[in-house]
Amino acid sequence: MQKYAGKSVSKGTAAGKIRLYARKETAGPKRTVEDVQAELARFEEARREAEARIEGLYEKALKEAGEEQAMIFEVHRMMLEDADYLEAVRSLIREEKADAEYAVRTAGEQFARMFSELDNDYMKQRSADVLDVSRQVAGILAGGEEEASWDEPVILLALDLSPSETMQLDKDKILAFALCGGSANSHTAILARSLNIPALVQTQVELKEEYDGKQGAVDGFSGVLYVEPDEETLSELHEREERQKERRERLEQLKGLKNETRDGRRVEIYANIGSAEEVEKVLESDAGGIGLFRSEFLYLGREDYPTEEEQFEIYKEVLSRMGGKKVVIRTLDIGADKQADYFGLPREENPALGYRAIRICLTRRDVFTAQLRAIYRASAYGRAAVMFPMVISVEEVRKIKEIVEEVKKELSEEGKAVGEVELGIMVETPAAAIISDRLAEEVDFFSLGTNDLTQYTLAIDRQNQRLEEFFDAHHEAVLRLIELTVKNAHAAGIWAGICGDLAADESLTERFLEMGVDELSVAPSSVLSVREAVRNI
Ligand code: PEP
Ligand code: MG
Repeated sequence: MQKYAGKSVSKGTAAGKIRLYARKETAGPKRTVEDVQAELARFEEARREAEARIEGLYEKALKEAGEEQAMIFEVHRMMLEDADYLEAVRSLIREEKADAEYAVRTAGEQFARMFSELDNDYMKQRSADVLDVSRQVAGILAGGEEEASWDEPVILLALDLSPSETMQLDKDKILAFALCGGSANSHTAILARSLNIPALVQTQVELKEEYDGKQGAVDGFSGVLYVEPDEETLSELHEREERQKERRERLEQLKGLKNETRDGRRVEIYANIGSAEEVEKVLESDAGGIGLFRSEFLYLGREDYPTEEEQFEIYKEVLSRMGGKKVVIRTLDIGADKQADYFGLPREENPALGYRAIRICLTRRDVFTAQLRAIYRASAYGRAAVMFPMVISVEEVRKIKEIVEEVKKELSEEGKAVGEVELGIMVETPAAAIISDRLAEEVDFFSLGTNDLTQYTLAIDRQNQRLEEFFDAHHEAVLRLIELTVKNAHAAGIWAGICGDLAADESLTERFLEMGVDELSVAPSSVLSVREAVRNI
């Protein structure tokens, strides 16, 4: 038995045959073409074919992994329409009489290098995307079907997998992933988690041909890949898996029960979503409501602003399907890591500290008003609440409330029905937490965005993978700001919840209850385990 350490990015265990996944390389020498026009046409045809495939992957990702994961393929599609990229490919064909495979590969590499040298983590990540897209087009040109298939489910061992390679795999044929590269936030890791497939990244194993077809096992709890595991290891893993299964069954039994500690303290457990499709998962999870609807996903991956009407239909659908349970819609939180070209946002030195979220809304009244009108119109169909991201001052909140009042007045003059809408803010900047006593007088509730609150309190870019080990959301400074915010909320008679990732951290559940946190809003898949944690206190 051989044992290789890796970093677990998706829990679970699996045992079965190992299959080596080697990328089909299309790198051949540069050829000189005679007929430039024909070569340009060949490229165009391959580009269109790649676009169609990417659209297929988008649909597949949307169905199997959700909106957030599917977005990556929207980014890929947009790259295939990017004028600069296309011009780079075409000019290599035109001017150097290069064959299309070479031109695509070379342009892809140039753009990837350019992205990776930019001083912006979001753009750096696009480097892998442009390579992925170029590889797909080159693969089509070389006449290759990228699909890899097996007769039986396998443990896939690979150097690395691009998002499109991951998505193209038939997930029923994958028991687990073990990658030599990758990171916790890579798309393969995110996809593996949403598909519920155990996965390791940075596995310290050499890719040897001889492993192909051998028995293997992956322990996605401790982060180990076994080649030819012995009986004892297999039975330990099996036991672990059984315990997991029992846990899942135990959690199922908690459906319909209260989020109540043994001494009778209660907390609301809500769910976070990014699209209307996820309401299904929320209902299945038995969450008490939606504590964070990240509305910015409605704005991403498209060519132009979503209209008021489009947004209205989506909010209405979410509110109606939640059947009277509360839905907290967060207004547009764009900028920094979430970019949409049509906003025409300026390039910034420090995007996380830049023009984003409420700062955009307060200066782009047309965009803000369209969203508010959609939310307030939809409020007639359920129990809506609205909250605003990245607030730092009382003045901002007053300005927001003025705009909201104008929108409500306008709607009533138009004879449009509007429901009762709670109005709150996200507390995700240290400034907001520190003046939460003043802010509490202005709003109906607070929702703590601990992801950004940690980023800004510790001065650590949450996107920067090199700083992962320093990013400590348990830092006493963060916890004290949470406590202060909850205390100030209660002193003013309003409620306070947490909707950042920390809400699902069960090692803090008891502490949050002691602080008096009223609501924890977590991923739908965490609702029942947080309920269990509460009930065990
Ligand atoms: C947060 O910052 O904690 C939060 C919930 O918002 P987002 O992660 O979307 O920035
Ligand atoms: Mg945030």
